[in-house]
Amino acid sequence: MELTQEYDDLIHTVRDFAQSVVAPVSAKHDAEHSFPYEVVDQMGKMGLFGLPFPEEYGGMGGDYFALSLALEELAKVDQSVAVTVEAGVSLGAMPIYRFGSQEQKQRWLPDLTSGRALAGFGLTEPGAGSDAGATATTAVDDGDSWIINGAKQFITNSGTSITSNVTVTAVTGTKPDGRKEISTIIVPSGTPGFTAEPAYNKVGWNASDTHPLTFTDVRVPKENLLGTRGRGYANFLSILDEGRIAIAALATGVAQGCVDESVKYATQRQSFGQPIAQYQSVSFAIARMEARAHTARTAYYDAAAKMLAGKPFKKEASIAKMVASEAAMDNARVATQIHGGYGFMNDYVVARHYRDSKILEIGEGTTEVQLMLIARELGL
Ligand SMILES: Cc1cc2nc3c(=O)[nH]c(=O)nc-3n(C[C@H](O)[C@H](O)[C@H](O)COP(=O)(O)OP(=O)(O)OC[C@H]3O[C@@H](n4cnc5c(N)ncnc54)[C@H](O)[C@@H]3O)c2cc1C
Repeated sequence: MELTQEYDDLIHTVRDFAQSVVAPVSAKHDAEHSFPYEVVDQMGKMGLFGLPFPEEYGGMGGDYFALSLALEELAKVDQSVAVTVEAGVSLGAMPIYRFGSQEQKQRWLPDLTSGRALAGFGLTEPGAGSDAGATATTAVDDGDSWIINGAKQFITNSGTSITSNVTVTAVTGTKPDGRKEISTIIVPSGTPGFTAEPAYNKVGWNASDTHPLTFTDVRVPKENLLGTRGRGYANFLSILDEGRIAIAALATGVAQGCVDESVKYATQRQSFGQPIAQYQSVSFAIARMEARAHTARTAYYDAAAKMLAGKPFKKEASIAKMVASEAAMDNARVATQIHGGYGFMNDYVVARHYRDSKILEIGEGTTEVQLMLIARELGL
């Protein structure tokens, strides 16, 4: 994947923004578990939520690789902010752009691509995570409406004051072969019976918005069906294939951020009369971290290149997601060790990466799910 001048300019713009605007408020939002509305507002004005969408829907006319590069830079300093953009774009707006009617795109996308609004993607349920096909939420066809009942679990960006809607999977009938017919339906915020329950108390990603959702006789118009009836599950899975590249980019940013912080710290921190970087055990540990970050980046660049070229990229996206999330987790652990006791203090970015990184091996398909997908591509 060639880094053109445009991509390079984007990297530098987002890097400056992350350092000057995001980093100063990260520890505060993390400690207060508060959503960074002021940062989201600025990212919206910069066009980050519109990167891979055409200008006719308020987007920047870029592509998915541009989004990935931006996520890598944001995640170096703040995973909550990065995942707010990742989920907002690739899970919130993208399903509407890919599968929506012209009316749906015109109604929802301009606010989503400008960051004035956020949308959630409701696939996971209390009894359906990795096995997403076990969806139990139902949507009953009632003349000119759908009536939705059920619950969704762990839904990102679903309960902010600017959340405009959540797109959910629901069982809308039975297929001729007896399997569930799963469709996707847009549920606008504020629809009676649709509730974003109180936010979770999470281990990390404290400034990212995550809620359980409940649906009790929620009535939405028939035209809120997104895409073809019965294609909801397949459509959501294809959204997740792309999303894995974005999450891999985010995880690469974490892995690289841990390297950058460790290089800085190890050259300054003195022990036994010299900088700790002089000890080979420390410099080798950082060299290994750099190798992991580089491998993760190469993997997501490769997956993105295949996707943009219209080639099959499922296996590469799964490899990138797995390798990068493991790199993030490993680098966060080692970077914390290099920072000693300071690495255990939440004011330090490596401490937040230590808590925040674990979810990267779980969300948008666990490591085991990635292994299943890779094995399947190998015919196993
Ligand atoms: C902070 C956060 C944000 C999230 N955001 C969203 C969101 O916006 N939208 C959304 O829909 N979901 C979201 N999720 C849900 C997330 O995608 C799921 O948690 C994840 O897919 C795993 O599902 P589960 O938690 O039900 O675990 P389970 O599927 O129950 O898995 C438990 C364990 O069993 C393993 N396992 C399961 N099946 C197999 C198998 N066949 N072979 C081997 N091992 C297996 C898993 O790998 C895992 O280790 C979010 C989760 C969190 C924590």
